[in-house]
Parts: sequence; structure tokens; C-alpha cells
Amino acid sequence: MEEAMAQIRTSRRYADAFEFRFDMIRDPNITQLMAASRRPCIATCRPVWEGGMFKGSEEQRIKVLEAASLTGVHFVDIELNAAPETVAEFLRRKRDTKVIVSLHLLEATIFDPAKIYRALRATRADVIKFAYNTDDAWEIVFAAEFLACAKRDRQKAIAIAMGQAGEASRVLYRKFGGWATYAAPEDGRGSAAGQIPASLLKKLYRADSLKSSTRVYGVIGNPIRQSKGVHLHNPVFQRSGKDAVYCRFQVSSIGAFMNRMSRYLSGFSVTIPHKQEVMKYLDAIDATAKAIGAVNTVVRRNGKLTGMNMDAAGALDAIEGVRKVKGTRVLIVGAGGAARAIVFEAKRRGAEVIIANRTEAKARELAMQFGTESASMSNLSGIQFDILVNATSVGMVPDIGKSPVPTSILKNKVVFDAVYNPPMTKLLSDANAVGAKIIQGTEMYVNQAALQSGLYTGRKVDKRFLKRLVSRIQ
Ligand code: NAP
Repeated sequence: MEEAMAQIRTSRRYADAFEFRFDMIRDPNITQLMAASRRPCIATCRPVWEGGMFKGSEEQRIKVLEAASLTGVHFVDIELNAAPETVAEFLRRKRDTKVIVSLHLLEATIFDPAKIYRALRATRADVIKFAYNTDDAWEIVFAAEFLACAKRDRQKAIAIAMGQAGEASRVLYRKFGGWATYAAPEDGRGSAAGQIPASLLKKLYRADSLKSSTRVYGVIGNPIRQSKGVHLHNPVFQRSGKDAVYCRFQVSSIGAFMNRMSRYLSGFSVTIPHKQEVMKYLDAIDATAKAIGAVNTVVRRNGKLTGMNMDAAGALDAIEGVRKVKGTRVLIVGAGGAARAIVFEAKRRGAEVIIANRTEAKARELAMQFGTESASMSNLSGIQFDILVNATSVGMVPDIGKSPVPTSILKNKVVFDAVYNPPMTKLLSDANAVGAKIIQGTEMYVNQAALQSGLYTGRKVDKRFLKRLVSRIQ
């Protein structure tokens, strides 16, 4: 009760209603909870067989809900899979307390959302709710299809894809025609995986003001939790007055996402591991992305999806903020996706490029492909260069005590680290200590986000605004 009361106090500013999970509160005092909430309330007492925590008898469970109803709770949530006579009884008495009939699919199974909709609709409940577990964001399409059926019938409905991969279904509920969604309290201790704190749903995503015409953007990758894009692109949309939202999509099967879910999106950022694979599903790829062999930005123009790469320009613009690369020798450590983009763009802008990598064969292969030199990591002190680029993940959290190169080679050079988490890496502090000019990975991050944002909003984006946002989320 103490925890519930604290959650109510901190969430009241953002919540339009409260759901009391009586299966999760010991010795609940309904009157006290309702008085504190000052909002419409939903009484739920989820049994173990539907994913909840109530272990008592069905009789005891129904008593809890009846008591809540008598106390004047606005909604009672009863499971479609409860005994038919129990559901019928609640529905008969629904004049005083409205009824939400819910179905939770906890196992990954194949289902037809229209069929599930029909079963829930047939109960004639005031509100119907369908929630299912997912570990792949393409399955959000089922929530969209369920809500499309409800919209046609003007049926109040809730549909949620549970789990991190389903997160966007909680943001896009209005876009899909849903009546409500569930958010976590401000302490983040929600009652289901993937729930977003109510303050973020309202302030960052403005989820309750999205419309069917709102444009959807996002980032696809796996894992995606660490992605900071939502904290940049949503404020930019808000500032520019664009009716758009940016969500995170944890995608395992890129093919299924592109075939089933991408039609809801007007554009998206692409991150590890899909930067190459996504290219198969696009209508067009611009010359830079084609030459690099990786796409990190996709936009829809006249219905066609075009892939681009903003990492390349983002990195080189960051470096050239300190020193022009034309005529310099740039040593790039790393031979992965970021390295490919930086090698291509550095060369295009007139630098001589040398590539070194832990797996030397990959450095040689990349050098051959782009017509540059390669070098061994064991011989970096023998290489002449002006600018050093770290395009490996060395120094990134959690291994922040590591640098990819010895400090002795950094004296008086320009040093750029693509790693942006943390912004000040071991490499950069080593370089700083020996008089090198340093450039943080956040510069590249902001540059490529600004380019993406320009495409998404159709306007030039103020980089200082993005930098302020980035510094706030570090
Ligand atoms: P990637 O394709 O997975 O490549 C990883 C690179 O790091 C490979 O060259 C790999 O060498 C090397 N590496 C990994 N662990 C290593 C270790 N312990 N010792 C030495 N080398 C190691 O990743 P990516 O997409 O290129 O990303 C690389 C870094 O750039 C990441 O930190 C990423 O966050 C950052 N990045 C930043 C931005 C930005 O906007 N600032 C944009 C994109 C990427 P092997 O070939 O030997 O495995």
C-alpha cells in the first residue's frame, strides 16, 4: 500500500486514470487508493493463469473485484478466459462499474488479431483489451490490425504488444485508433515489460495527442534500449511543429519488419545489426550508401523507400570542424561498419587513408576495396599520420578504461573517437594529456542526427539545440 500510494502521488500529474493491480498489493485499501488517485480507476486482480500474481481461489478473486465495484471503482477488468458466468455477471451489472474484458497471450503463438477481436467484441464489454508478448517489433502490426477492427465498429479498445520489442505499440495507440494505453509509474516499476513511464509517454512522445495522420519515424536495431534517438528526434519534431513521433523498434527479423511493419513508417534510422541487411528491402539506395555498403537512414518519398548513410558525412564534418582532411594522412583504427563509412568519406574528401584493425585480414580487405593502405596494429608507432580515428568499440561502456592505441603515438595529432558513450573516452583523455586536438564521438552523433532530422522534418536543424539535448541525456 505504501509503495502504491507513493506511485500514485508521483504519477498523478501525468495519469488520466489509474489501474490498481490488486494481485500485486498486499492488504489493499480501495477507498484510500481511490481517494489518493483523484482519477477514474480500474480494478484488476490478475490470476496467475493470465500472467498475474493472484494465487487464491477464483471465488476470492471475484470477491476482490466485487468489493472494488461496490466502493465505486469506475472500471473492472475481467479476463475473457474467466468462467463465462463470471464474465456474464459483471457485464450484467455494468451500469455502475464499466467492464473491460481482457485477453493476454503470454506464449509466442500464431494468432489472427481479427478473430481475437471478434471474440472480445462479442462479450459486449464497454472496453476490450488484448495484450500479447513479443520479442520482435514487426509483431506490433497485430495491435494495429486489432485496433483497425475496433475503429471500424467504434468499439473502445486497447491493444498492447508486451516486452521491449513491443514498446512502440504503447506510444502509437492513438495513431492506431486505441482508446487507452498503460504506462509505468514514475519509479519505472510497471506491471508489464515494455511499459514506459507516464511522464515520458506524455512529455517526450506526446502519445495522447497523436492522430491517425501522425507520421511515424523511429530507429530499428537489436538491442535498441540504449538508443538515444528518441530523446533527440521527438523534441525536434515538437520544436518544428511537425506532427510526427519517433519510436524504438527492437527488430530481430528485418525481412518481416520490412514486409509487414515498415508501411506504417515515414522514415527510420538503422543501427546494428541491420545496416547491411536492410539494403535488400529498399526501393533505392543513394550513391554514398551504395559505395559504403551500409545504410543508416531510410526515408519514404512518394511511397518508395530510399536508403542513405549519414555516418560518413557526420564523422568527417566532425573532424573537419578541427582540421580539413584534404592532403592529410588519416589513420583509421577499425574495419567494421563505422570504419567503412569513414574510410570512404575521408578518401572522397582528399585524405590519404591507412587502415589498421585487430583482425588484420579485415583491414587489408577494406584497404583493397577502397584503394588505400593498411597497417599492422603492432606497428602503429612506425606510421606517419596527422589524424587518428578510432572506429572500434574499444573504450565504450562498460570497458571505459581501455584505449585502442598507445599514448606515445598521439602527441600533437588530431584525434577523433567515434565512441560516444562515454563522451570523454580513455583515448581522448590520453590524447588531451599529450597536447593532441580531440574530437568527441558525440559530434559525429549530433551531425548525423541533424542530417537525419533535416530529412525527417524537411527543415535545417539547429545543431546547438541537438547538442544541448545530447548533453542532457549523457
Ligand atoms: P562493428 O561493425 O561491430 O565493428 C567493430 C570494430 O571494433 C571492428 O573493427 C572490431 O575489430 C573492433 N573491435 C571490437 N572489439 C575490439 C577489441 N576488444 N580490440 C580491438 N578491436 C576491437 O561496429 P561499428 O558499427 O563499426 O561501430 C564501432 C564503434 O563506432 C562503436 O563504438 C559505435 O558506437 C561507434 N559509432 C559511433 C557513431 C557516432 O555517431 N558517434 C556512429 C556509428 C558507430 P575486429 O574486426 O577485429 O572484430
